[in-house]
Amino acid sequence: MYDAIVIGAGPAGLQAALTLGRMHRSALLLDSGEYRNGTVRHMHNVIANDGTPPDAFRATARAELAAYGDVDVREAGADRISGAQGAFTVDLADGTTAEARRVILATGMADALPDVPGLAALWGTKAFSCPFCDGHEHAGEAIAILGEAARAAHLIGLLGRIVGSITVFPTAEPLSDEDRRMLEGLGAAVRSPATGVSETEGAVTIRSVEGETRAAGVFVASVVSAQRAPFAADLGLAMLPSGAIEIDDFGRTSLPGVSAAGDLAHRASLPGAMASVLLAAAAGQLAAIGIIQSFLAEGA
Ligand SMILES: Cc1cc2nc3c(=O)[nH]c(=O)nc-3n(C[C@H](O)[C@H](O)[C@H](O)COP(=O)(O)OP(=O)(O)OC[C@H]3O[C@@H](n4cnc5c(N)ncnc54)[C@H](O)[C@@H]3O)c2cc1C
Repeated sequence: MYDAIVIGAGPAGLQAALTLGRMHRSALLLDSGEYRNGTVRHMHNVIANDGTPPDAFRATARAELAAYGDVDVREAGADRISGAQGAFTVDLADGTTAEARRVILATGMADALPDVPGLAALWGTKAFSCPFCDGHEHAGEAIAILGEAARAAHLIGLLGRIVGSITVFPTAEPLSDEDRRMLEGLGAAVRSPATGVSETEGAVTIRSVEGETRAAGVFVASVVSAQRAPFAADLGLAMLPSGAIEIDDFGRTSLPGVSAAGDLAHRASLPGAMASVLLAAAAGQLAAIGIIQSFLAEGA
């Protein structure tokens, strides 16, 4: 019986396990190997790790965790959670089970991209969605934005002062005249819907009925993100309009004994999770602290 099972070993789960281990609370960290930034070569906006490859970040974290005798790590997916606070059972994909007094969900979010041929192959290397993560690397360059008008306008607001020029391509219907004028008023060029993208000599070629446009990178405005794992639905956790799990200040969900940390959860006072390595790690630490507090309250 572990004190906690942490499901997910991205920044949120790794930090949660570190905090539990440092406080000599036994923890099992589970990892199915599906990371939101799994295709990313260099992460940014992470102080002291600006530009670090995410897989190197995770490898360093794993090496640090190896020094803590109370933390076990398994490369195994979790399929099902049953039980209640004090005695949860997690069924693993390898057919085994593990038990713990508490559970931390840190399974992250999965991103669905618009159906533009070639786009998925560029995700994380030439195609991004987060200006905070990948905007500065395109300073002064020509970039493209794929997506509908309102979200494109938001991205233009963030990227406009960084990049050299912006061309917007819708991904389905052509933009209305009103939307076109609105985006042009923000300084962007507007084209017909993108029919395909590909990488050419380190740049991106975007195809539309108007021909081919070259850009240094592509920002996707219409990414749809959803819970990667089924546990929030399976456990009937309170959810937020963003599709994330509702948590309190210490990462506690609506189900006693189950906490959540990282991209998959946020407080109701925020419009959404911020999709940030640092904030995910911070949330993992808070969730672990919340669990340790709950043990103290029980005298355990
Ligand atoms: C293209 C792209 C670029 C990005 N660039 C940056 C950047 O430069 N800087 C930055 O701060 N952020 C960046 N992000 C955001 C960053 O990736 C996330 O904020 C961060 O990964 C969230 O961490 P997490 O721990 O919540 O989830 P994740 O990192 O997604 O980790 C989820 C974990 O849960 C595990 N898991 C899922 N289901 C199960 C299951 N059933 N059983 C066991 N394990 C399971 C996975 O295997 C994984 O270990 C980027 C995101 C994308 C998509």
